[in-house]
Amino acid sequence: MKPLPLGASIGIIGGGQLGRMLAAAAARLGYRTIVLEPQPDCPAAQLANRQIVAAYDDPEALAELASNCAVVTYEFENVPVATATKLAASVPVCPPSSALEVSQDRLVEKRFLNAQGISTADFLPVDNDADLAAALQSFAGAGVLKTRRMGYDGKGQRVFRQSSSEHAGGVYDAMGGIPLILEALVTFEREISVIAARGMDGRLAAYDPAENVHRDGILHSSTVPAAIAPATAEAARQAAFAILEALGYVGVIGVEFFALPDGALLVNEIAPRVHNSGHWTEAACIVSQFEQHIRAIAGLPLGETARHSDCVMENLIGEDVLRAQALFAEPDLMLHLYGKAEWRPGRKMGHFTRLRRAS
Ligand code: AMP
Repeated sequence: MKPLPLGASIGIIGGGQLGRMLAAAAARLGYRTIVLEPQPDCPAAQLANRQIVAAYDDPEALAELASNCAVVTYEFENVPVATATKLAASVPVCPPSSALEVSQDRLVEKRFLNAQGISTADFLPVDNDADLAAALQSFAGAGVLKTRRMGYDGKGQRVFRQSSSEHAGGVYDAMGGIPLILEALVTFEREISVIAARGMDGRLAAYDPAENVHRDGILHSSTVPAAIAPATAEAARQAAFAILEALGYVGVIGVEFFALPDGALLVNEIAPRVHNSGHWTEAACIVSQFEQHIRAIAGLPLGETARHSDCVMENLIGEDVLRAQALFAEPDLMLHLYGKAEWRPGRKMGHFTRLRRAS
């Protein structure tokens, strides 16, 4: 495929900070962007050329997007699959809708991963209290109960520990009476993630794994390099590549892993988009994950993934944004704010990456 001509428009479904950073990267490479997002003046629209203010499944909006864009991408994995397939009839959609299907349902996702020979936590579907009681029994009383769909940042989750006297009765209804999955409780040593990409020519690239710390289910920090053996880092990269190839993927993907004390890896989840744990790439690499994604979907060659500095990325969540003034004073620190006027508890307001330069 020939690269997208300069000045062509890229459609972005979703108007959050990831869309904003994609729009900025696209602009720097000479492309225009049109964001589809129901919330007016969303973070992405502040930097895009145009916003279509409509629901993600609005037929007229989708027709408008398809007729004005040379390619359409998305910044979150809960884009309706029907939206992606409808658009794909008239405009290339990258990553493919198969990536949405797999990542929207934790049960489908785990079965897909296991079918590729990639290990995950043990899991069982839960569709009522009796299923939950049986599943807990087979995991020796410990597990993480999650909604199969629409869960993110630890929302829609409940942890059972062996020591707790909690019973399964009533839990299914309390979780909303929707399809659930019980995962075995993993005793991991650390959590890591790999940001990888596949270009239109099938080439693969990956950044070094980041070591991630979560607080209350939300990413707090990503440190690079992760304190893992080179063989573990390579295994993580290879797993990400296997996922990209199995999906016939084009674009950037985020793959989250649990690293076990013996160095073995279990995939926790995949995100078919640029990923919060890859934000460090904008400060520590020549080509960020955002530019890499635009390069991939525009049919350009993938860029360099080597980093020039070790670093730590930290999210500014809720009132953390008030730290911005102090952070401006620090050398070797890149601050990135998302243009959200008001902070609320749990809301991602920005992030910063502190470089660790060799002295
Ligand atoms: P998730 O929404 O699946 O990414 O989960 C959010 C966080 O909860 C993860 O990053 C882990 O810190 C923790 N977690 C999720 N699943 C498990 C599990 N099966 N065992 C142990 N911890 C987990």
